[in-house]
Amino acid sequence: MKTYLVTGAAGFIGSNYVKYMLKKYHGQAQVVILDALTYAGNLLSIKDEIALPNVVFVKGDIGDYEAVSKIFKDHDIDYVVNFAAESHVDRSITNPRLFLETNILGTQNMLQCAREAWYRGKDAQGKNIYKENTRFLQISTDEVYGSLAKDYDEPQPLHVSQELKKVIGNRHDLKTYGKQFFTEETPLSPRSPYSAAKTSADLIVKAYHDTYGLPVNITRCSNNYGPYHFPEKLIPLIIKNILEGKKLPVYGKGLNVRDWLYVEDHCKAIDLVLHNGRDGEIYNIGGFNEESNINIVKKVIAIIARIMREEPQYQRLLKCPLETIDESLIEYVADRPGHDMRYAMDPTKIATQLGWYPETTFAIGIEKTVRWNLDNQDWVKSVTSGDYQSYYEQMYGNR
Ligand code: NAD
Repeated sequence: MKTYLVTGAAGFIGSNYVKYMLKKYHGQAQVVILDALTYAGNLLSIKDEIALPNVVFVKGDIGDYEAVSKIFKDHDIDYVVNFAAESHVDRSITNPRLFLETNILGTQNMLQCAREAWYRGKDAQGKNIYKENTRFLQISTDEVYGSLAKDYDEPQPLHVSQELKKVIGNRHDLKTYGKQFFTEETPLSPRSPYSAAKTSADLIVKAYHDTYGLPVNITRCSNNYGPYHFPEKLIPLIIKNILEGKKLPVYGKGLNVRDWLYVEDHCKAIDLVLHNGRDGEIYNIGGFNEESNINIVKKVIAIIARIMREEPQYQRLLKCPLETIDESLIEYVADRPGHDMRYAMDPTKIATQLGWYPETTFAIGIEKTVRWNLDNQDWVKSVTSGDYQSYYEQMYGNR
């Protein structure tokens, strides 16, 4: 029986991860969830999980030394998976300090508490020894590498190396907007307060490994999409606004490109790295699915319009006539300052070392995501009250 301390599990990816691993290790895992329940954390996302006898929920801050060391005292933790973070770039532009406090100092506090709890003395060479089979996994982002050039206006078929083909097989849905990709060796070059704070956190994780010998890994992943995604991020925001008959705000001309990965594929990668990753290594995780923001928005409009036409029982969710769901809803808004043009991950290392690849095609993943949102409007309503509403109005007015 292994015990996992999962931070930020009331948020988007963390909640999906806890569901995934509890299913996979059914009865073989104890889980302690630590979450401060900020505007982005919602217990409804993990209500079934926290009711289980092998799951403990602790409301608290990853930066609180007393609270985190008490968790390590009360539970014999084997693995730490650190999702907790302030995660929204726009919010980091208006309030950078909170991002530094949570993402950097919070991560350092988690590392320090793990180091103290796992320390078992020194070996004959004076090297630190820690509790066996432990691992601190820092969940990081492709944004630490900065921005890549976009070489094509429309996505081109992506031809992967022979080495990758052995893992991925013949996939015809993979696409790219450029020739260059981020590898684990790409120099760090964050450009927003969010990504600068995440980069700093990665460096402090590396420092705890290099200085104290703490067993760590870092995973850097591209944009996730899927269930339980807070509707301030592009895909769930667009779905919500379409249903409400509101305009669909798109930055600039919508030409910025992101690599999209279905969240369950990310969870599988995390699980693999946690158990099989080489100590101290960084792994890039990507979807091989680059798409411009404007094309994402157009696809979501088309899917919702089709579902509404073909399955009229969903029309009760619409606050506008079905005929008005089209691309005229798109409204271009002033671009985000310092908006990165393109992110694209090269996941060769995790694919060849650990056998991971993005299993879910975008066509399937986006259909599942839209349907999940349509079928879970109670969740959407519960997370979009209060703080979210005032934030949205501040950003976009009353549109
Ligand atoms: P999210 O904003 O949905 O969730 C963050 C969670 O952390 C929330 O439950 C929140 O309550 C909690 N939290 C925030 N501050 C806290 C604190 N001080 N103490 C304890 N809990 C706190 O974020 P997400 O999209 O699920 O992202 C999770 C992690 O994955 C983040 O570290 C993010 O940088 C990283 N990541 C996200 C993406 C993506 O596409 N969403 C891509 C790559 C990496």
